[in-house]
Amino acid sequence: MINIHNLHKSFGDLHVLKGIDYEVREKEIICVIGPSGSGKSTFLRCINLLEEITDGEVVIDGVKVNDPKTDINAIRRNVGMVFQQFNLFPHMRVIDNITLAPIKIKNMKPKDAQKLAHELLEKVGLGDKANAYPEQLSGGQMQRVAIARALAMQPKVMLFDEPTSALDPEMVNEVLDVMKQLALEGMTMVVVTHEMGFAKEMGDRVLFMDQGVLVEDGTPSEVFDYPKHERTKSFLSKVL
Ligand code: ADP
Ligand code: MG
Repeated sequence: MINIHNLHKSFGDLHVLKGIDYEVREKEIICVIGPSGSGKSTFLRCINLLEEITDGEVVIDGVKVNDPKTDINAIRRNVGMVFQQFNLFPHMRVIDNITLAPIKIKNMKPKDAQKLAHELLEKVGLGDKANAYPEQLSGGQMQRVAIARALAMQPKVMLFDEPTSALDPEMVNEVLDVMKQLALEGMTMVVVTHEMGFAKEMGDRVLFMDQGVLVEDGTPSEVFDYPKHERTKSFLSKVL
């Protein structure tokens, strides 16, 4: 589903991603862990072209993302993203947050988009919040709306960038539960997370990133119980 080959990303002189090779198969759940500043967000943002790729290539479902001929909107239709800070449109009701992109980018009829939005709100447990504004919701509810909004584009892949890091502890599970449900339904997911429990339980593979390099990759048991690299061991000793 996603093929990443020799991916490099620099911001000016700062070389952030230093040649990443990775492959995500359909329906896989990949959990990305690593210290702050190691390039995890940049890695996700290169996958859906929120950042320009400096060198290398990213291919999603057979389409090269960083090809000038590729329609960026087509990529974004196929790749949903959920951010740490929700990024909902504050002046729009929940329902309009969800229907905006399907109507504008997918040319969906407003009526169909609204029907889909109501279904997705039910799915994330917020069937009664369609007419609320984001500020009337808790963090956990806002993040579930953000997930529903991403799903409204009917993406092939979902990227999550620390989706629970900005939440009060009691709201973490309601978001993780929605993600687990999605995973069980067969969504392909790349999840940057500090929730090691989620990574252990749901991850098909765990990828440890440090200083822009993919240091270690394996099953949760391989990475958590039998880490091979000193850097992985040192990181895990601080977070587990
Ligand atoms: P992580 O998500 O693992 O914490 P990031 O991908 O956010 O790491 O950042 C990796 C490095 O890239 C950091 O040194 C960060 O300061 C830098 N960086 C990220 N985004 C930008 C940007 N838009 N401009 C300049 N530097 C950036
Ligand atoms: Mg980050």
